[in-house]
Amino acid sequence: MLRLLRDPYLIPSEKQTLLSDIAAEAESLRMPCYLVGGCVRDLLLGRPIKDLDVIVEGDAVAFAARLVEVYGGRQTSHFKFRTAFWHVPDSDHVVDIITARSETYEKPGALPTVKPSTIEDDLRRRDFTVNAIALRVDGKGLGEILDPLGGRADLERGVIRILHPNSFIDDPTRIFRAIRYEVRYGFDIEPETLNSMNREALKVLESLSGERLRNELDLILDENESAKMLMRLAGLGILESIHPKMPEFTQDYADYLEMDAHLDVAADRRVMGFILWFIDLSEEEIFLLVNRLDFSNELSLAVWAGAQLKRSLPHLTGAKPSEWAYALEKLPLLSIYAVYLVTRENALLSYISIWRHVRARTTGEDLKKLGLAPGPRLGEVLNRLRAAWLDGEVTTEFEERDLLAKLV
Ligand code: ATP
Repeated sequence: MLRLLRDPYLIPSEKQTLLSDIAAEAESLRMPCYLVGGCVRDLLLGRPIKDLDVIVEGDAVAFAARLVEVYGGRQTSHFKFRTAFWHVPDSDHVVDIITARSETYEKPGALPTVKPSTIEDDLRRRDFTVNAIALRVDGKGLGEILDPLGGRADLERGVIRILHPNSFIDDPTRIFRAIRYEVRYGFDIEPETLNSMNREALKVLESLSGERLRNELDLILDENESAKMLMRLAGLGILESIHPKMPEFTQDYADYLEMDAHLDVAADRRVMGFILWFIDLSEEEIFLLVNRLDFSNELSLAVWAGAQLKRSLPHLTGAKPSEWAYALEKLPLLSIYAVYLVTRENALLSYISIWRHVRARTTGEDLKKLGLAPGPRLGEVLNRLRAAWLDGEVTTEFEERDLLAKLV
């Protein structure tokens, strides 16, 4: 294990330094300290780790305070759960430090009640065996693996397994997590685990808040193989439990999530994912889903605009550039781009790359100097001039001035 901890491909050198600083302080405080969860799983799979997830048997908030005192930076703490983030000085690293704890679920689907406990108890509250492995990093224990639930064997077999039969009833968001890992690592969900995604668990899932469900879907949309994951969810009847109107995600749309960076449209996999996903739905269906998943106003608008534009495309085909520009002006760019990807309507691309940037040379100030009072008429004149440029009616500043002279 020491070999993995020192491999710069798996843990970049700055993170290795951080980890040894953390370990040194844990040792001096005699607080057993471990890496846990995704980073141990990824290390054992020979994959570079994303974050350092640190857990201590002791008070993580006090531990983070000590790290700040010795090494600088700052901490943000969550006192109820005794967890802290250490914002490392002069870098954008944030280390997640938690207090080993046990959890009990008072009610299916509710957030758990927690109390400080041992590392073994902490591993038992986790989602899957492969995520319930700890790697000690302090003192003489450095490099020791703690694997009371058989996570390593499951990693070797490529199996996703829950820790107890009620796991998905306690927290049905784990169903989404299981599918993310299954597809991401090419693993299999073990048969008993798959059976536990049963009616009872799906009933609890139906009652989860929109925010919790959307958060899981966001995490899936962040993944390279999100389409495959969403299709798997559909196959298991899970999308339906979110809402009966939830459509399937088409594989055809999967490639579109990898956005073309040449266009100056800010890429966002999550927003793009939801626009594509809901693009063939009616306004009413979108309304129901946007409410169920508690979308922000911005995301709701992007999704609605994509579907609305795709529906109205037949009416716009063959329109003049100025008419396209008028119809598209108020719509989010990403929605327009999504509809372009799905329909290959070239006018949409022309709008994104050229037409939306076209302006008349004359400005509002110029018009005021010509004696036009500020008001709707002024806007109309500017629009008319812009439309003339867009449609090729004027191609030079002189021609624009001629047209202006006729208008005012
Ligand atoms: P990823 O690579 O997807 O980020 P991760 O394992 O790092 O995976 P996190 O969401 O950061 O995922 O969670 C960290 C750890 O916390 C997990 O490895 C798991 O042990 C535990 N965990 C997270 N969510 C749950 C949950 N809903 N139920 C139980 N344990 C969970």
